Amino acid sequence: MKEQEMVRKAREVVSPFRVVKGRKFRLADHDPGDTGPLRGEDKQQATEVLAEGVQFLAGLQDKLYAQDKWAVLLIFQAMDAAGKDGVIKHVMSGVNPQGCQVASFKAPSAEDLDHDFLWRAMRELPNRGNIGIFNRSYYEETLVVRVHPEYLERQKLPPRLVTKHIWEERFEDIRNFEQYLTRNGVVVRKFFLHVSKKEQKRRFLERLENPAKNWKFSSADLAEREHWDEYQEAYEDMIRNTASKEAPWYVVPADNKWFTRVVVAGGIIETLAGLDLDYPVVGASKKKELEAARQALLAR
Ligand code: ATP
Ligand code: MG
Repeated sequence: MKEQEMVRKAREVVSPFRVVKGRKFRLADHDPGDTGPLRGEDKQQATEVLAEGVQFLAGLQDKLYAQDKWAVLLIFQAMDAAGKDGVIKHVMSGVNPQGCQVASFKAPSAEDLDHDFLWRAMRELPNRGNIGIFNRSYYEETLVVRVHPEYLERQKLPPRLVTKHIWEERFEDIRNFEQYLTRNGVVVRKFFLHVSKKEQKRRFLERLENPAKNWKFSSADLAEREHWDEYQEAYEDMIRNTASKEAPWYVVPADNKWFTRVVVAGGIIETLAGLDLDYPVVGASKKKELEAARQALLAR
């Protein structure tokens, strides 16, 4: 497939799932089982397209790295078992690990809690030329912390700063932070892997019944499942308040892993293709230097 064709295809597949304006966003309008224009029978074909996409992505990343100007931050958020790890593994399988940084955000440490909530994320921001992946992120501050107010209590905030406006304030801080990043050449894209409650149950059962997957199961995941509706509301509110043209959310259907991967790959491709990526052109004096070196090498 030609480059332009590849980018056009990626945009076409991805566009129904890209949210740039959140005001009227409703999660209920998004079906986790959606496979866009593809059907179950297309799975094999999708896998082939994905392989091509992954290769194409690798080429773009090579230029991103060589050019050393932009940084790309990809944020992944989801309920448990929605497939974050698998998507990251597959979609990034072709890229050069040297230009890639992955950070997983778990429950905050004592040192994290001794700082403002963006502190630990700042320390993991990607270098210029790199793709940074956040497996969970500062968005947990509006999700798990919102669903479990006791986590907020542990944050050692001065009491008078904790008011009923705290979530609105966090959304505002996040919007401003992402704008700051954007203005500094860090391109932010956010992926919410949208899995259904039914499919999560199926995947949990698989983790319990398949010995090779037992290690993935944690009883804590079951406890979080009890809060399903609260999480869905928190996700919806998060997208409403933080989707923007500069830092869109992709609401990715996650009940069919093969389609999830196609959409995520498409989102990354359209993002990189939207940057003016190219190999740095060497100037006249550097060209002279290269030619001299070539001659010297040939003469030996
Ligand atoms: P897996 O799919 O393998 O379970 P995971 O991303 O769920 O991967 P876990 O080891 O389960 O990884 O740990 C992540 C946990 O940390 C999540 O339950 C998440 O809600 C929690 N967490 C992340 N950020 C915060 C935060 N700022 N405050 C409190 N809890 C957080
Ligand atoms: Mg987990």
